[in-house]
Amino acid sequence: MNTISRIVIIGAGMAGARAVINLRANNYEAAITLVGDEALMPYDRPPLSKASILADADPEPVWLLDEGIAQSLKADVIKGVAATAIDDKLLIATGAKPRRLPIPGGEHALLLRNQEDMILLRQRFRPGKSVVIIGGGFIGLELASSAAKKGCSVTLIEAQPRILMRGVPEPVARIVHDRHVAAGVTMLTGTGIAHLTADAVHLADGRVLPADTIIAGIGAAPEVTLAKEAGLVIDNGIACDAQMQTSDPDIYAAGDCASFIHGKYGNRRIRLEAWRSAQDQAATAAENMLGGAKQNVAVPWFWSDQYELGLQIAGMADGATETVARQTTPDALVLFHLAADGTLLGASGIGPGNAISRDIKMAEMMMAKGVKPPKDVLADPAQPLKSLIR
Ligand code: FAD
Repeated sequence: MNTISRIVIIGAGMAGARAVINLRANNYEAAITLVGDEALMPYDRPPLSKASILADADPEPVWLLDEGIAQSLKADVIKGVAATAIDDKLLIATGAKPRRLPIPGGEHALLLRNQEDMILLRQRFRPGKSVVIIGGGFIGLELASSAAKKGCSVTLIEAQPRILMRGVPEPVARIVHDRHVAAGVTMLTGTGIAHLTADAVHLADGRVLPADTIIAGIGAAPEVTLAKEAGLVIDNGIACDAQMQTSDPDIYAAGDCASFIHGKYGNRRIRLEAWRSAQDQAATAAENMLGGAKQNVAVPWFWSDQYELGLQIAGMADGATETVARQTTPDALVLFHLAADGTLLGASGIGPGNAISRDIKMAEMMMAKGVKPPKDVLADPAQPLKSLIR
């Protein structure tokens, strides 16, 4: 029996909603208050750049915790209120905020983080309209795919020499790039921007791209305002240990706002902006707030959908010294990233629908178990990977 009389959760997104569910699943019976600064109950964000923005009728949010479930879990949800001070046992799950373009006229670029942003963009994605998207990361690319599907004339600008420079291997990024080109998107990589006006993007080389809509997808910063004011240690997000506990023992953090020590990766501090990780971190935090000592060691996993393609990334491949390719089908590719001692560190794949899902799932299981898979089996699509998981 624990003696906590109330747990407050600040931030009613994925991590906040999952924390409510996990606290009850861990038999916590006292009060839960969930405070969110959006007017809506917690809803899912991945559809915002995909299914919702493409929907024919006005899309309802995909609820993560609706009024009925909140009531049945006896959670008090306070909506439309930004928490401004901290004085309790609590979980901070304030997410991340999209970065604004730090150039003259940057305010002319629209951003996507919430339902309201999506509704605004959705109204602008009309056939024949010109949409210029700045940033070749996941949000920018998913929006390019959605805008192209809606019949817009789309240009995507990336300052780096290629799209998806961070965390996605070149062969996978190339397939994504080529698919956008095939859809008619003008892909301008290695291209700098001088400034924006309300209806044009002015490139560093002097070219001017007229635009009905300009969107920036240049990454997000962890929302740490409140945590800073409370004096918590910040280190690329609210600094947590492996148990999602912050520098104040009464305060935990989870999701996009938190960085944490990941024991599987040499005790490195990492911060993830990923849907499943927000859930994993919330589950860990919930258990530990009730006296547990669980470590967050889940293998990171991320997916993106663009056109008919599904892309998935699992693990942390940056320490890899070798890559083995598995051409699952003619149009589906999985790459396995191995450490010098043969341990599988990461896997990335792309293919139509969920063509690569099974192989990535197997890779995740291998990583969780620290398997050193034989390269010939990885490379041969005729050999099932299941046999490698003991
Ligand atoms: P959020 O879901 O952002 O929730 C944080 C909440 O806290 C927000 O409602 C915020 O307004 C609120 N808040 C902030 N400050 C305060 C305050 N002071 N007081 C009260 N409330 C506050 N991940 C994938 O793995 N695959 C995908 O395909 C994918 N697609 C995505 C598409 C989009 C458009 C976006 C935006 C994200 C996508 N993600 C995807 C990432 C995933 O949605 C996030 O990792 C996840 O939502 C993080 O959950 P969170 O609870 O940490 O943050």
